[in-house]
Formats: sequence, C-alpha cells, structure tokens
Amino acid sequence: MRRIGKIMLKFKDKVVVVTGGASGIGLAICRRFGNDGAKIGILDMDAVGVKRRARELEAAGTDVLGIKCDVTIKEECDFAINEIINHFGGIDILVNNAGITQRDAFVNTRISVFRKVMEVNFFGSLYCTKASIASLIKRKGLIIVIESVAGVAPLLGRTGYCASKHALHGLFTSLRSEIRETGTHVMIVCPGFIKTNLQKRALGGDGKVTHHPQTIVGKQNTTKSVAEAIYKGAVRRKHILVLTAAGKAGYWISRIAPVLYERMMARKFRSELIR
Ligand code: NDP
Repeated sequence: MRRIGKIMLKFKDKVVVVTGGASGIGLAICRRFGNDGAKIGILDMDAVGVKRRARELEAAGTDVLGIKCDVTIKEECDFAINEIINHFGGIDILVNNAGITQRDAFVNTRISVFRKVMEVNFFGSLYCTKASIASLIKRKGLIIVIESVAGVAPLLGRTGYCASKHALHGLFTSLRSEIRETGTHVMIVCPGFIKTNLQKRALGGDGKVTHHPQTIVGKQNTTKSVAEAIYKGAVRRKHILVLTAAGKAGYWISRIAPVLYERMMARKFRSELIR
C-alpha cells in the first residue's frame, strides 16, 4: 500500500487483469483499479475496443496493456496471460468478467446456445485462471469471479446462463478451499441488475440476438458503483459480494426459503416467455 498525500493507494503497482474489460462492468473495474495506481491488463475479443480503452486509460495516467483475446479460445488466453506476465512481471488480481447471456424457454433453446454460453462464461474463466494460477499463487493474489445471483439461485428463462454461473460457483469455491494455504484468495461477485449492454446482446433460443423484452427486478445500478464495491471488497478480500438491493433480497430469500424464492421468481419472470 502507498500513500499519496492523504490518499491510500491499496493496489499501487499491483497487476490487475480484467477479461471482457473493454465495456460494461469490466471497463469500470479497469478504471477503478487504474485510478488506484494499479497496472492494468485488458483482455477483450473486441480488438478495436481494447485499443481504444487502453489509450483512454493511458491518457488518465494508467500503465496498461491491452490484448485482443477471445476467452473461448484456450490458445488466445494462454498467449494473452503470458504476454501480461512477461510485460508486467506477474499477476496479482485476475478478474474473470467476460460473459454473455441468453433469454428463452428451455424447450426453444438449441443445444448450441447452451454450449456457447458455457464456452464464454465457464471455459473462458477456466482457461484464464489455469494460465495465471502459478503467478497468482506466487504473489498470494486474488481471483475475482463476476458471477450473478443466478450462480446460486434459479432464474426462469435463462437455464443456460444460470447453469454456466452455477458451474463457476462450484469451480471457484472449490478452488478457493484448495489454494487457501498458499495465501491466494477467491472473491465471488453477484452483481444484481446493472445497466450494461449484456441484455441487449442476449442470445435467443435460435442463437440470434433476441429482442424479446427483459424483466428487471429493482433499480439497475451503474457500472461505476459496482466497480467501487468490487474495489472495496478486494481490499477486504471478501468471500462473496452480493450487490444491489434486489440482488441481496434474492440471494437471502433463495438461501433461507428456496421454494418460496422459486415461486416468487417464476411469477416475476414468466411473462418473458409469452410470445
Ligand atoms: P457487457 O456486455 O457490457 O460486457 C461483457 C464484456 O465481455 C464485453 O466487453 C464483451 O466483449 C466481453 N466478451 C464477450 N464474449 C467474450 C469472449 N468470448 N471473449 C472475450 N470477451 C468477451 O456486460 P456486463 O458488463 O454486464 O457483463 C460483465 C459480467 O457481469 C458478465 O459475466 C455478466 O454475466 C455479469 N453480470 C452482469 C449483470 C448485469 O446486469 N449487467 C448481472 C449479473 C452478472 P464485446 O463487447 O466485444 O462483445
């Protein structure tokens, strides 16, 4: 930790890598940790977006390396993570953020859509974590997983998304217990509803972007407020961070009264499936 004037910079010179860092929550995380003096590695499949965001962060005084990386391709993840390790000397925080969603009834959803969502949300995080784990352990680092309340509770009309987030939950809570002795930690983030492009690009059952209306529960928070909460959570090395009032209510009701939660959630979301 470094002190500049009266401001404590908790992550000064730490290396933070963010997948899907060119937009939405990922970009806000890059900005927040960059403002704190961290060195930022932005990975995103959008090559133009990566360059543009890297230039933007650089102009704000951040030491940054942007690399085009489609997280569904293991070789691209290995390459990007190695480049970052060679450039900055190691990785202190890996943020597994890149993600996509889908929205349609199970009966109308092709297997290829389930596969695509799993490839981005689950395998993307697995590949990047595999490539970084030795460096993270060496530095007693932190893995941040941008999950969802759908990682711990059911969500009607999003069976593929929900399955991918549950898979992340199983992988990363197990990994946390496996690496605890090394001083390396895993923080799971369940953001609630946040205003980003995620839902605008949701896949329908046929694999094309769906224009079917989305149900939103509670107020949509901003990416900036999410990044601030994630930053504070990282300082305290929290185990799980559930964000937004609706997200917290959903999380606790699903824990304490799962059957009631399923009924309430189904009532709220069922209209989405009516065509
Ligand atoms: P965005 O769509 O704004 O951001 C997702 C980012 O991931 C984009 O930059 C996107 O790139 C990138 N991405 C998608 N596919 C790949 C890929 N194959 N390889 C590399 N990058 C990829 O959405 P959010 O910021 O909302 O989503 C971030 C995370 O937050 C996701 O994991 C999502 O599930 C989670 N989340 C979001 C919630 C919300 O309400 N917004 C609620 C709960 C969880 P590109 O722009 O090029 O497509």
